[in-house]
Amino acid sequence: MIITKAKSDEEIKEVIQPFKKLVVVGCGTCATLCQTGGDEQVKAMVQKLTDWGKEVTGSIVIENPCDLRIDKRDLKRLGDAMANADAIIVMSCGVGVQTISQASDKITLAALDTVFIGEVERIGQFYEMCRACGDCILNETGGICPITRCAKHLLNGPCGGMNKEKCEVGTDKDCAWVLIWKRLKEQGREELFTKFREPRDYSIKAGPAEIIWK
Ligand code: SF4
Ligand code: SF4
Repeated sequence: MIITKAKSDEEIKEVIQPFKKLVVVGCGTCATLCQTGGDEQVKAMVQKLTDWGKEVTGSIVIENPCDLRIDKRDLKRLGDAMANADAIIVMSCGVGVQTISQASDKITLAALDTVFIGEVERIGQFYEMCRACGDCILNETGGICPITRCAKHLLNGPCGGMNKEKCEVGTDKDCAWVLIWKRLKEQGREELFTKFREPRDYSIKAGPAEIIWK
């Protein structure tokens, strides 16, 4: 899931300052689960904007704002609410904001910060798990991602700073490479731990990435 957090009221106030009439768009998927852009948060944003002297011409929670087809369909359904708005304020990840911007000729503003691709342990407890590196090595690391979970993103570890199984970089987190070793040992696949991994070929990740089915 894409994890998002709300921008501060101060930041929102500043970006909406030039606009009088706004449409609020939420996200029915990730941002709903993060409680940053679902029904309740959209209602709260409408109330806030009204309290700040803005006119909210319409609001909607789009099921998948990262899908251009759905955005075009749902924004069209807003009719005059969209036509009369000066700008759209979007409560979704940055993908949703950009896709809505493509689906409309209105100025599109982000209400959230997109922080990571994460696992949901429970609502309000999210852990970064993947950086979409484009060259996944989970098959060699017992399903634990060193790019994300090692503070130095090392492909071969642990580094010399590991201390009593903890990461040396700033926190009391477990060293990712110790976790990888333990998992591989449990699985009887220790040989994968000693495999040397060459430095990454960053051209694989030269963006912007795209996938186009033939
Ligand atoms: S190696 Fe890590 S960052 Fe790369 S795709 Fe796999 S899980 Fe994601
Ligand atoms: S201590 Fe472990 S997790 Fe921390 S930077 Fe070194 S190898 Fe990575």
